[in-house]
Amino acid sequence: MDIRMAGVTKIFHPDIVALEDVYLNVKRGEFVYFVGHTGSGKTTLLRMLNRELSPSSGQIIVGKYNLRKMRLGQLPFYRRQVGVVFQDFKLLPHLNAAENVAFVLEAIGMPGRQVAERVKAILTRLDLWKRRFLYPEQMSGGEQQRLAIARAVVNMPSLLIADEPTGNLDMETAESIMDILFSINASGTTVLMATHNQYVVDAFRARVIRLSGGRIVSDEPRGEVELYGDL
Ligand code: ADP
Repeated sequence: MDIRMAGVTKIFHPDIVALEDVYLNVKRGEFVYFVGHTGSGKTTLLRMLNRELSPSSGQIIVGKYNLRKMRLGQLPFYRRQVGVVFQDFKLLPHLNAAENVAFVLEAIGMPGRQVAERVKAILTRLDLWKRRFLYPEQMSGGEQQRLAIARAVVNMPSLLIADEPTGNLDMETAESIMDILFSINASGTTVLMATHNQYVVDAFRARVIRLSGGRIVSDEPRGEVELYGDL
């Protein structure tokens, strides 16, 4: 989905300016990294696109949806097209790995056999099929992260929002996650990813937008960037 943000400001009570006058255009099918120090506004920007937060002022248009004017009844239809991977995973503790992924497809009324096929395909791809009966607490951090990604992409979303999906992972696992994100992107999904990982940004080239103090300070179309070298 195309994304357009115009003059977006987010102020947290009472006076924390998390984003300030952000203008951003992303075309359908782009892959965009958001970089910048902790507190620069990356997570706030991504959560606004998932409509978990609304802006204090400004416009956000995603595909045919105007997020500020969206009626409550439209939200489930919007959310169906958006996959999210946040740092806290938000896996359901009382469901095993396979059930955590199947849940997403069952919620949209997909027939059981198709659900089973899709779940098997994505868990196999993320090397989790043998772990499918485990509950999140029985899995390592890296496995939980891969499971969160499986869940976010199993529905082939139009937009994938990923906040530090390679955080705390070894290089090999991080690479396998990036391969998956790029292959999903190649099939048409717009991917927005916040990262602190210099290796990933170097090895998997894409547009890089840098935030600082809630503002966009640079936008490199095919980023060769030093994430922290300018400080
Ligand atoms: P980043 O993801 O780049 O680390 P964030 O978007 O998390 O940045 O944070 C931007 C700013 O907004 C920070 O100053 C942070 O403390 C503040 N902030 C984020 N979420 C909240 C919240 N729920 N309440 C108050 N302040 C917040």
